[in-house]
Amino acid sequence: GAKENGRNTFRIFEPEMTRIAMRALSIQRGLQEALAQGHLSLNFQPKFKGSIEKLVGAEALIRWNDPKLGTIAPLEFIPVAERSGQILQIGYWVVSETCRQLVEWEKDGLPPTKVAINLSPHQLRQRDLVARMRAIVDEAGIAPQRIMFEITESVAMQDAEKTVAMIREFHSHGFEIAIDDFGTGYSSLAYLQQFRVKQLKIDRFFTDGLDKHGDEAYAIVSAIIALAHSLDMDVVAEGVETQTQLEKLNSLLCDQVQGFLLARPLTSEAFGALLRGRQSAVGTPA
Ligand code: C2E
Ligand code: MG
Ligand code: MG
Ligand code: MG
Repeated sequence: GAKENGRNTFRIFEPEMTRIAMRALSIQRGLQEALAQGHLSLNFQPKFKGSIEKLVGAEALIRWNDPKLGTIAPLEFIPVAERSGQILQIGYWVVSETCRQLVEWEKDGLPPTKVAINLSPHQLRQRDLVARMRAIVDEAGIAPQRIMFEITESVAMQDAEKTVAMIREFHSHGFEIAIDDFGTGYSSLAYLQQFRVKQLKIDRFFTDGLDKHGDEAYAIVSAIIALAHSLDMDVVAEGVETQTQLEKLNSLLCDQVQGFLLARPLTSEAFGALLRGRQSAVGTPA
């Protein structure tokens, strides 16, 4: 009967749940060691204005290559760190490592660039988050104007009143804000207007659709761009993988593009080389 089925279901799921819990625990322990031993690193995915010739900055993306556990994707360990609270320590590390890298690129004679850093919900609940971020960039000697923080639309809209206040605080310290993964999180347009952020990043799902469903995705992307521009925001399309997507985005006057077609997330050395290329391109008479 139904009761017996339920019991069987429980028995089937129990080992699976134990496996998931054990995995989370080993990630949690591994992370503590990774932080201490320096097994975390950052990749930098370039952001471009329309084409590969116009590099405008990068998004920092965390990487974890563990000698024991192997390579673990951020989509797996960030949620664990979020639940354990370790995301706070990781988040401060990401900002200070980004600043250290910005200083190093400049010591190498490369032109100054801007970096965007992702934030998780637990970080946004910290009262002193913005002040601490500011202290970190100040100590590194980096102007806060060179750091942008990305907050996903769904997180931003969870408590939109609070987000408005938080964004004001970031702005008052000179940081810029982007709304990440836009289009999937049921935005209130009234709040979107109050956020007054610099950038909207269109979720990869819609960029994908520019190839797959033709007119429908095109209409949605076009509407998002028009909305953003009317609110005085720039639009970045994430996940650009094909020439067709890039051409459609450019024809819709999308301000910036990011994706594997143009560049994958790069090591700091590879991103430095790209910066150097831009510098020599600028120095070369047309
Ligand atoms: P996100 O912020 O939306 O970052 C974009 C993700 O899409 C990255 O995955 C990037 O590698 C990937 N991507 C970029 N271009 C393409 C493309 O053309 N095609 C495809 N298929 N994928 C593309 P990644 O690095 O695995 O990061 C996943 C998510 O983990 C990020 O999504 C972000 O939410 C989170 N994350 C990464 N680094 C950090 C961090 O330092 N702190 C926090 N709190 N979250 C982070
Ligand atoms: Mg992002
Ligand atoms: Mg995104
Ligand atoms: Mg995403």
